[in-house]
Amino acid sequence: MRPTNAREAWQVLKAGNQNFVAGTPAHPRQDAELRKSLAGQQSPFAALFGCSDSRLSAEMIFDVGLGDLFVVRNAGQVIAQTIIGSLEFSVEVLQVPLILVLGHDSCGAVRASLDAVEGNLSVEGEYIENLVERIVPTVNRSLARGQTEVDLITRDHIVDTIDELLEMSTLIRSRVESGKLAVVGAQYRLEEGQVELIASRGQLES
Ligand SMILES: [Zn+2]
Repeated sequence: MRPTNAREAWQVLKAGNQNFVAGTPAHPRQDAELRKSLAGQQSPFAALFGCSDSRLSAEMIFDVGLGDLFVVRNAGQVIAQTIIGSLEFSVEVLQVPLILVLGHDSCGAVRASLDAVEGNLSVEGEYIENLVERIVPTVNRSLARGQTEVDLITRDHIVDTIDELLEMSTLIRSRVESGKLAVVGAQYRLEEGQVELIASRGQLES
């Protein structure tokens, strides 16, 4: 059955991730017939905003298929106007009940931000700085609390990203407040393939 609310959407993602972790994926909804049936319209049950890391393959790690997830990714999952626009589209037009913000351990973008704060970042690409500077405030706050590990800083970054999204988007904030949408943050573990819930806004248990 297709999920119709945040709780059901999260249950499907959790169950799919368990299949992936166990090495027994069902590979659902990837056949030619379904592909044809989806050509005219899409109705994903969740939006995912995650890091671009090649090991964070969205549909694969949740064992879902075509038309299931509306996926937005950039390195280090940093908020930008185009990111918020994409997520607003998924909520307003596609009516997804759940947005999942997904980070992961050993994240290169978070590591680069930590390097930048410590004055050790040396990159040629001029726009890389643009990305890193979105994570630097979190890094500074984490360091001020004595938190120096990349994976712990990444957890803080995921929570800050959710808060930033809700602060910047009136649409997303109001949908969360009215109970139509939940925004959850999770951390993916590269080696185990496990997705761990670390924060949620809105009702996941209704
Ligand atoms: Zn990453």
